[in-house]
Amino acid sequence: MENNVVLYIEGDGIGPEITRPAIKVLDAAVKAAYGNDRAIEWKRVDAGLEAEKNGGDALPGETASLMQKYRYMLKGPLETPVGGQKRSINVRIRLMLDLYANIRPIKYMKKIDSPIKNPERIDMVVFRENTDDLYRGIEWAYDSPEAAKLRGFLKEQFNVDIEGDAGIGIKPMSMMKSKRIARMALKYAVDKKRKSITVMHKGNIMKYTEAMFKEWSYDVARSEFGDRIVEEGELATKYGGTVPNGKILFNDRIADNLFQQVITRPESYDVILAPNLNGDYISDAIGALIGDIGLLGGANVGDDAGMFEAVHGTAPKYAGKNVANPTGIIRGGTLMLDHFGMAEASALVEKAIDQAVEEQKVTQDIARYIGCKPIGTKEFGDVLTGIISGK
Ligand code: NAP
Repeated sequence: MENNVVLYIEGDGIGPEITRPAIKVLDAAVKAAYGNDRAIEWKRVDAGLEAEKNGGDALPGETASLMQKYRYMLKGPLETPVGGQKRSINVRIRLMLDLYANIRPIKYMKKIDSPIKNPERIDMVVFRENTDDLYRGIEWAYDSPEAAKLRGFLKEQFNVDIEGDAGIGIKPMSMMKSKRIARMALKYAVDKKRKSITVMHKGNIMKYTEAMFKEWSYDVARSEFGDRIVEEGELATKYGGTVPNGKILFNDRIADNLFQQVITRPESYDVILAPNLNGDYISDAIGALIGDIGLLGGANVGDDAGMFEAVHGTAPKYAGKNVANPTGIIRGGTLMLDHFGMAEASALVEKAIDQAVEEQKVTQDIARYIGCKPIGTKEFGDVLTGIISGK
């Protein structure tokens, strides 16, 4: 039997009650697809509020070592307070394992109320750079000696005036990191036969960070995928305005423009390649278009490690009530199955989710759109497991 060892963190808030059924559903799908030939071997690790309760760090040393050893994990949502000293565990794990790509597929699901007309036009995948940019959290408080020193340095060396009461954050964007995420997005688009890739940036204003992210993305597209892409600029002149079969349209959009276009013309966008902060915003905005971010899963992957999760957070108001929707973390799990080359199992899960919605066996967040009687979190997991295993 071929086993993939996967760590799991149950998480905070609704985390435990969505993670447990997710594991059962994923196991059922692997069993249904591969019988006894393949399996996931799950190992539970502590992190988040539970770990802190036992008097330690929210990411205990033992958990970090196991992560470094086993490299793959399914993660329930973890709480991160706004402000204060506590750094996001998600960001710490991403940096520790160099999970440089955050991948979020967003596709409309029938029956869900979307805020836009004809929502079946929404079928996008966001590739967000995960380790660079302002998101790295290199910053100093307005009243810290470090910020004072930096303000002094900038004034002395570059004659740059910054207000004496300003906090300072640093926005690094490197060639290596920009190119490797571009490469991953391009490879994905080619493998999955997607129709276009759009680089999202604010390069008109941030010329040495965001504009370079765009330039470096074009460099990779031209030098490594030149025979697979068509640039927007040459579409009319060389190809009569139509992308030839088997080729992928490669273009870019300034961030604010892309924000409005994914809403007004979602059918024109497919794979979106974005730096960290832009990617964070646009992935939730596109997620909202399908009507419910509780339905979305995400993957954080590097060259030899991956963390798979729901897109949403700990939804504290629903914690312990058996009402949260586990679909997000289940879909995080299907991205993991895809990553392990278990596409058949992943397809079984997606089919079961569609069937459960079709049969109106859904949690309250979906039931309120459809106008049916909701079932609980655990019961929804049981419905999916039942469909997958044919019971
Ligand atoms: P949130 O936990 O995603 O919840 C926001 C709202 O989304 C909920 O009130 C609920 O909306 C809906 N929702 C989210 N997940 C749902 C589910 N599984 N089933 C049904 N409805 C769901 O966002 P937040 O309140 O801003 O954040 C809470 C905490 O989560 C924060 O500490 C934040 O840092 C953390 N967080 C963690 C992650 C992560 O670990 N990856 C990601 C995001 C946020 P309705 O009220 O409309 O029903």
